[in-house]
Amino acid sequence: MVQVDIALEKCTGCAHCRDVCPVNVFELKPRDQFPGVVDDAGVAAKFQFRTERSLAVNGPECIVCEACLFECEGECITITDDEGHVHTSTYK
Ligand code: SF4
Ligand code: SF4
Repeated sequence: MVQVDIALEKCTGCAHCRDVCPVNVFELKPRDQFPGVVDDAGVAAKFQFRTERSLAVNGPECIVCEACLFECEGECITITDDEGHVHTSTYK
């Protein structure tokens, strides 16, 4: 089963992942649903944090197309495929 993980402290809520995912893995949730998550300073220096963060609510549906990995400005998505290979975000 494919696993999709998001490092929430780096998630800016840009929604790029949700917009590009062909199988609706991601949902954006209000930031106040993540108490204790502190914005990553390195990401904050480059991008604006919005009012939501992303959750991978349908991770097992992921087909590992990697579209989200190239669109994630926080470079915070990690996908582990069926064979255990790890795919990480690299913002284009
Ligand atoms: S790699 Fe998976 S989670 Fe990312 S856009 Fe493709 S199907 Fe969606
Ligand atoms: S693309 Fe990355 S930074 Fe943007 S909402 Fe999705 S997980 Fe968060």
